[in-house]
Amino acid sequence: MQLLDGRKLAQKIIRDLKKQVSRMKKKPVLAMILVGNDPASAIYVRRKYVFCEEAGIRSNTIKLPSNTSEKKLLVIIDKLNKDKSVSAIMVQLPLPRHINKIKIIESIDPKKDADCLHPENYGKFAQVDESYSVVAPATPFGIVKLLEEYKIKIEGKHAVVVGRSNIVGKPAAQLLLNRGATVTVCHRHTKNLAAFTRQADILVVAVGKRNLIKASMVKRGTVVVDVGVNRVGKNIFGDVNFPSVSKKASYITPVPGGVGPITIAMLLWNMVRLAKK
Ligand code: NAD
Repeated sequence: MQLLDGRKLAQKIIRDLKKQVSRMKKKPVLAMILVGNDPASAIYVRRKYVFCEEAGIRSNTIKLPSNTSEKKLLVIIDKLNKDKSVSAIMVQLPLPRHINKIKIIESIDPKKDADCLHPENYGKFAQVDESYSVVAPATPFGIVKLLEEYKIKIEGKHAVVVGRSNIVGKPAAQLLLNRGATVTVCHRHTKNLAAFTRQADILVVAVGKRNLIKASMVKRGTVVVDVGVNRVGKNIFGDVNFPSVSKKASYITPVPGGVGPITIAMLLWNMVRLAKK
């Protein structure tokens, strides 16, 4: 078994981005918006800030109370859209329930949409690839970069994606499909999940349930990408039972140190692309 080391690849990507940023006349500037005090969101925002620093990207975080109105948030985004010094905007999800997430995503100027969530960017990416959309959905694009870094063949393989969210499962399936995999997507209504996961040459799990995938659910030699983040006290676990599944897998991502760092590296990649356009 070999580990798919997301930290190592993230560092490599960031070193390259840092070089690019140092040569840019107009440097990328990120504005992050954090609404409310969800502890996990605060950690993500902090990590993005640290990664940006490493790459020489300036970032500002606008922290808003959880009772911020949708109208106020729209006004702030509108200001950032018009602010020429800001090249990228990210609104940390999830948002409080009283705010319409879709409305907020659609209010971000697609030219500043570092998360590739705006339908214009997401659609262009799904239709062609990042050459058309400029940005890419960070987590699934990072997964594909990780597979490619380890020269894992995707074409002709059976990829099983567990989870069908707009930020991970669906775009991961699309990316793998575009690269020639035969893709099965499983989700909460899938009956007999193991019957599908056992067929996977490449298994991507993005659910948010610790130990969902056990050794009996994978075939020997499979490639496992564990996207899940499950916090237990100060520790983080994925969706895959790592001790047992790693004994059967040919490659597997650790949690932490797999998909997490590569996701942030790809967000920075998006920021640099936006600033160059
Ligand atoms: P989500 O809640 O939007 O989607 C979860 C998906 O899992 C749904 O499609 C649901 O149908 C499916 N599901 C739920 N129970 C299931 C079951 N028993 N069997 C099969 N499928 C089931 O979540 P998301 O935003 O896609 O995130 C998924 C996980 O990945 C979370 O733990 C999240 O924290 C993590 N995540 C990590 C990163 C990273 O950078 N490492 C990025 C994004 C998300």
